[in-house]
Order: sequence, then C-alpha cells, then structure tokens
Amino acid sequence: MKNRVGENWCQNHLADQQVYRLLEKVDGDLVAEAREPGCVHCQGRLDRSDYARKPRGGPQWEVRFSLCCAREGCRKRNTPPSVRFLGRRVYAGLVVVLVSAMTHGLKPERVQRLREALGIDRRTLERWRQWWLGRFVNSSFWRDARARFMPPLDHQTMPLSLCLSFAVQGCERLVDLLQFLAPITTPTAWSAFVM
Ligand SMILES: [Zn+2]
Repeated sequence: MKNRVGENWCQNHLADQQVYRLLEKVDGDLVAEAREPGCVHCQGRLDRSDYARKPRGGPQWEVRFSLCCAREGCRKRNTPPSVRFLGRRVYAGLVVVLVSAMTHGLKPERVQRLREALGIDRRTLERWRQWWLGRFVNSSFWRDARARFMPPLDHQTMPLSLCLSFAVQGCERLVDLLQFLAPITTPTAWSAFVM
C-alpha cells in the first residue's frame, strides 16, 4: 500500500473544478491575511494589486493575488504566499506536485500519457524531479519542516512521499499540502529555490 500510487487521484484532482475553486478561495484568504499587518518594508497600508498570471496545463486562473504598499516613497509590491502558484513555475503548483509525484510510482508509459495530456515536455518534468530531489530536500525550509513528519519521509521519492504522508487522495488534504508549501511560493522565498 505504501508505494502504491493511484493514477486516479492525480487525474481526479487535475480535472476537478471544485479543487480549483477551493484553491482560489484559499489564496483569497491568504491575500486578506497578508494585507492586515501592512507593508513588510514600512508597515504602510497595502492595496490590492493583482497581476496577470496564467498557469499552463490545468486550471484557468488569470491572476496572482498581490498587494502594493500605498505609502509614497515605498510603494513596494508585497506578494503573499499562494496555494496555486509555486514560485515562478509556469505550471500550477498542484500540477508540479502531483505529476512529479507520479514519476515515482507509475509506469513510464503512463507518466508519458499524463505528461502529454498536460502539455509538459520531458525535460521540464525531469527538471522538476531534480528540483524536488535536490534543491527542495536541501532547502532550509525543508530542514526546518521535516521533523514534523513521523516516520521520516523518504527523500528519494519526493514529492510522492510527501503526498502519501498528507494523504492527498482527499481534496482537503491536497489543499493542506499546498498550504504547507505556500511559504516558499513568494518571490522573496522562491529566490532561494532557483539557481
Ligand atoms: Zn511600504
């Protein structure tokens, strides 16, 4: 059971408009929360300032929720964490997580089918795989977070081990997993995750 991966749960989530709407709603909460304390640079008032961001493969989202400082002389952008967008990845966060997880459990032909259905080329998927196994597991974010997983997660099968630990077959649990990853999705945090 431990290593069994349902192709189904992946495909179900990716085809589920309700999951997309739920994630959008959670992002709405995250931007509202980030707005309250004010600008991280000067505590100035933050105004809504969303920007265009259309992820490839899957959800038809149009914008990333964001904020801008209203104070003259600062006016800096404050982009809150997101459960929809994983840093600068052009695919939605759930696509990056779920399809990467599939590479550890499914037969290559099935991975290929899934990849082609979502328009992800082979090199992109390989890059994601390397990122989870390298940059992600070696990040300070993961070093701080991994202690809360008992038994410890297998790094060799990331992010499948993470998905199984969260039991992402269920929609709410998938949202929990994406919320767990949300701190690394802001432009500032993401800079530590790219070359
Ligand atoms: Zn400011």
